[in-house]
Amino acid sequence: MKAEGILPTVGSKFDELTGLYNREAFLREATTLLGARYDVGYCIVCMDISCFKIINDLFHMDTGNLILQSAAEYFKETLNPRTTLCCRASADHFIICIPSEELRIEQIIKDLDKRIQDLHISHNIPFFAGIYIVDKRDLPVDQMCDRAGMALNRIKGSYLTRYAYYDEEMRDKLIQELLMTNNLEIALRERQFTIFLQPIFDPRKNVIVSAEALVRWFHPVHGMVSPGKFIPVCEKNGFIVRLDRFVWEEACRFQRKRLDEGKQIVPISVNLSRLNFYSLDLPEFLSMLLAKYELEPWMLKLEVTESAYTDNQVQLLDMISTFKGLGFSVLMDDFGSGYSSLNMLKDMPLETIKVDMAFIRELEKSERVALILKFVVQLAEALGMGVVVEGVETEKQCKYVASLGEVAIQGYYFSRPLPMPDYEKFLDKHNLQPR
Ligand code: C2E
Ligand code: MG
Ligand code: MG
Repeated sequence: MKAEGILPTVGSKFDELTGLYNREAFLREATTLLGARYDVGYCIVCMDISCFKIINDLFHMDTGNLILQSAAEYFKETLNPRTTLCCRASADHFIICIPSEELRIEQIIKDLDKRIQDLHISHNIPFFAGIYIVDKRDLPVDQMCDRAGMALNRIKGSYLTRYAYYDEEMRDKLIQELLMTNNLEIALRERQFTIFLQPIFDPRKNVIVSAEALVRWFHPVHGMVSPGKFIPVCEKNGFIVRLDRFVWEEACRFQRKRLDEGKQIVPISVNLSRLNFYSLDLPEFLSMLLAKYELEPWMLKLEVTESAYTDNQVQLLDMISTFKGLGFSVLMDDFGSGYSSLNMLKDMPLETIKVDMAFIRELEKSERVALILKFVVQLAEALGMGVVVEGVETEKQCKYVASLGEVAIQGYYFSRPLPMPDYEKFLDKHNLQPR
């Protein structure tokens, strides 16, 4: 039998870059294969790279091509051509039709990681896979591929899960997300995004010490969409990198405006989603912002979420040290929410920790939580770091937190996140009051 499955010859059935089947040919061949091998259980596997677009932006297109060719070579060398089909369906999208018994997905991902690492590109380039176990043989193959694609989209960009299986429930959620994804570009262009500023307060000195910039989306039809809904979507599709940069620039623009008006400013801290750490030009971008708006580094602080630490510790440490070298303060957001709080404290040159809101919520229910909070403050003090406690909503909570030492609070008790003009009034009124 001719080993035609994944070892194609040149011709219009094939993708020029990789020599694998193209999508159309794959759909035809897979229909035939699944029809002929009715006795064998099959899977459709969709694989692609998280944020390939960003890689193409950051590097030359040749680098992107090299990655795709290396992956294709791997598939040609390892998949069994008698039973298995493989194609490059588009950009960085590969589809495989493989007997369930032969699918070693973890091995494939591990091998691909190794191949890509061997190319020595200074960037993490992870492959993700979505798998549809062909349970409905009469389904058109392109719909099978869509299903595998849905499973893939659910986990793409997550760092703990590299593959997922399709299940029916996914469909609704994904259709919802897709609608949102299509709207993000337009939203940015039409300035539907804006920032709110939430004051952070020193309860002992009774002053606003800084503020956090929090993005808001005002959709012309749906009204305000909460960050809890769209940030995870943006993190999944890579849009967060652009959105974060927009937020940082808005914060800088705001600081410059205040300075031009001769008004007082306090630092604004901005969130850095973990995907940013894959952009090697991040420090240059931040320096460019400072230069463009003629700001000093203390005027902008950087919040890095604790969970970023689990992804790539070396890269994160490098980046944080670079920020420090540029004069920025780095804050650890959501401290205590994940598994790496203490490790991160141990390794990273952080200025401040922001204690996760979950602690304050539990404060009155559990004495142990009150004790943990107390020792977290002491620990931070001993390490020469500042502490912000998030989510303070009541006077009682505020009093307890203030009793612990040099702690700043962020929470509705003091102020909700405010539109920029309201924040300005608040800041002017509060910080100029005689104390
Ligand atoms: P975060 O960075 O930990 O921000 C604090 C969140 O706590 C904000 O929610 C804020 O409105 C909320 N909060 C503050 N005080 C209280 C309080 O007393 N009670 C309660 N219940 N909540 C309080 P928000 O604005 O909905 O943002 C949620 C998360 O979305 C943020 O958590 C952050 O992780 C993410 N986010 C927001 N803006 C951005 C952004 O520009 N870029 C990125 N990458 N993430 C963002
Ligand atoms: Mg934050
Ligand atoms: Mg936080």
